Amino acid sequence: MGFETFLGNTKAVEAMRAMVARGRVPGSLLFAGPEGVGKKTLALMFAKAMNCERLAAQGNFCGECTRCRKADEMLVATREDLARRRESKDSQRRTDGLVYFDLQLIEPITRFILIEQIRQLRAVAYTRPFEFPRRVFIVDEAQAIHWQAIDLLLKVLEEPPETTTLILVCPNAHELRPTIRSRCRLIAFHPVEDSQIADLLTQEGRVPKAQRPLAARVAAGSVAKAKTFDATEFERRRRPWLAFLDAVASPREAAHAPDWKALFDSTKALAEDRDAFEETLRIGYSLLRDLMAMLEGGAEMAVMNVDIRSRLKVWSGKLGLRGIETLKDGLDQAYRLQVRNVNQQLGFDTLAVELLSASPAPAAGE
Ligand SMILES: [Zn+2]
Repeated sequence: MGFETFLGNTKAVEAMRAMVARGRVPGSLLFAGPEGVGKKTLALMFAKAMNCERLAAQGNFCGECTRCRKADEMLVATREDLARRRESKDSQRRTDGLVYFDLQLIEPITRFILIEQIRQLRAVAYTRPFEFPRRVFIVDEAQAIHWQAIDLLLKVLEEPPETTTLILVCPNAHELRPTIRSRCRLIAFHPVEDSQIADLLTQEGRVPKAQRPLAARVAAGSVAKAKTFDATEFERRRRPWLAFLDAVASPREAAHAPDWKALFDSTKALAEDRDAFEETLRIGYSLLRDLMAMLEGGAEMAVMNVDIRSRLKVWSGKLGLRGIETLKDGLDQAYRLQVRNVNQQLGFDTLAVELLSASPAPAAGE
């Protein structure tokens, strides 16, 4: 237990620990940085450390004392409460009877964090905490605070409550108004180092060893993605792309007609899973970037699909720059069709035909 268990973003952790150890905690903090690096986790650890009965003076928390355990319970309760409110069809009932604990997670109930939520925050922030020496309000997805509530929040930031620390959490500080931003102490988060992600995957042992380099690349600095990476699922989604690339890249060498059946089978598979189509497209784009990196040579570090390097090399050589660009146009088109909810297979079939009828691939490196 304790801050030692937090992975990556050492500077942010050190800053938190120093504040707690000195007993000087700002009224408002802004945690900004990419998804999945543990911003909320660290906010929670910070809240525990400020209130821990045993280790606060050392700038840490034990995870075992009454208050540390209480903090976990409060978090569970606020999450359950949020889930219930989100399910409610009645807009009035969504915000009825809001009760804030000494540790409270405030998240969007609808697409927004509503004015009632910020009103409650303000009403409670200036009162004495019930169970903790210091109250912590974590406002997650602060960029989603409804415009009607911004001025109200600003008032709290302008007159920092003595008993409450506000932690605003968002992916990008610049999505917040400068007036909000400037009143918070900024804690910047960064993607976690590849080596640390690799260590995590080794420790966990959940992903088979052979797939760990791939998992680390897919995670792209996100601890959350590394922890949830499902090799089987990933390969299932990627398989049709590989078949597609095999089909469009192969006839250039062999002088015979393309295997139309294989080609249309693969495009059918790509279009089938409508709900997950965005994820499927994302994998398609990752392959596209990899092909480009291969073509440019020397950019192997940038390749995401590390487990199929040799195949990428073959495809990129056969497709050439022009083929890869056609592929990109096709993906962009598929993306636009997806947004408009149009039949996908049509798009992929057109793309396949286009790729196959294109003039012979220019030599790699052109
Ligand atoms: Zn404790």
